Amino acid sequence: MQPKDLLQLTEQFGSPIYVYDAEKIKSQYNRLTKAFSKVDNLRINYAMKALSNVAILQLLREMGSGLDTVSIQEVLLGLHAGYAPEKIFYTPNGVSLEEIEEVNAMGVQINIDNLSILEQFGAKHPNVPVCIRINPHVMAGGNTNISVGHIDSKFGISIHQLPHLVRIVENTKMNIVGIHMHTGSDILDIEVFLYAAEILFDAAKNFKNLEFLDFGSGFKVPYKKDDIETDIEELGKKLSKRFNAFCKEYGKELTLIFEPGKFLVSEAGSFLVKVNVIKQTTSTVFAGVDSGFNHLIRPMLYGSQHQIDNISNPKGKERFYSVVGYICETDTFANNRRIPEIKEGDILSFRNAGAYCYSMASNYNSRYRPAEVLWMNGQGYLIRAHETFEDLLTNQIPLPIEATV
Ligand SMILES: *Cc1c(COP(=O)(O)O)cnc(C)c1O
Repeated sequence: MQPKDLLQLTEQFGSPIYVYDAEKIKSQYNRLTKAFSKVDNLRINYAMKALSNVAILQLLREMGSGLDTVSIQEVLLGLHAGYAPEKIFYTPNGVSLEEIEEVNAMGVQINIDNLSILEQFGAKHPNVPVCIRINPHVMAGGNTNISVGHIDSKFGISIHQLPHLVRIVENTKMNIVGIHMHTGSDILDIEVFLYAAEILFDAAKNFKNLEFLDFGSGFKVPYKKDDIETDIEELGKKLSKRFNAFCKEYGKELTLIFEPGKFLVSEAGSFLVKVNVIKQTTSTVFAGVDSGFNHLIRPMLYGSQHQIDNISNPKGKERFYSVVGYICETDTFANNRRIPEIKEGDILSFRNAGAYCYSMASNYNSRYRPAEVLWMNGQGYLIRAHETFEDLLTNQIPLPIEATV
């Protein structure tokens, strides 16, 4: 997708908007399947919390993807987007037994991540095929909020509790069909991932009825020039070989599952904003844009560095800018960043705006959330309209007149 296409879409649909490139999503999907082409049964479940627009779900469904969901509402959205229940996995953390039972009744594969629920669920529904989330306690990931493998992490059943886990399964006679791990975002070192996989293989030997092993996700994508990314091809080569060997040893062709979010959609997204004001202070030049952390919170929440392009003046002389939002609170997108000269009215484009951007947007400051556009076959499809004042009032109930006096 060219910067001129982004500029044209911003003119057509207005700013701020999110634009997603269907081709990029497809090529990432194909890259992953190709890297694991030596595995006979590969399954990709898109982790929809990254970007949950129904049109994006439809696009991935057409490509053959399944879904990884973390809430009953995501399951409902997935069903609404046309996924068969058996194509949906449900990997929640800290949800109630009631919600898990409700999702199970829809025919969705459930994944249990704590011993208390496992015991209760197993006692009530011993015949239901269940997947277990193991925490191998292998550290991966940059930011502590997205790293989930550490010893005091709330995610998964600790590998150190395996004997207890096996005892529960034996006592309840429940049907364990899968083992799962997800070590968190931003895997840099493939060897660390493979080490965690070995822990999963070891754990898997305790269960006789397995159908699949789910290795989660956490693939790192580049956010800026020369950024390191997970070497998917190398991982594919090494893990496929190891996986196939394990299946032989286990005596059964298992399915290998991944549940990528960021890898599939991050780079496909651009977030387009308009510069409202250039503010020169004694130390800094601010570019104030028609957005804020209500639309894109990753830089403030995770310290993510999204590359910013001035698509109105791509060849301009570079200067230093602090790009800030319009929220009444400090919301700095970028500090003293080199960007081609910015004028008021210019359109800036944030890269890597596909994953965890729109899906984390809010109405803070009572601002509308942006529209979303899917760019496909040289055409922009509006897949979510800009919000309106009506949307801000939805579900609000004013006090009755007599209560206000
Ligand atoms: C969030 C999440 C993912 C996706 O992680 P990415 O880093 O976006 O690929 C996969 N599995 C589970 C269980 C998750 O919670």
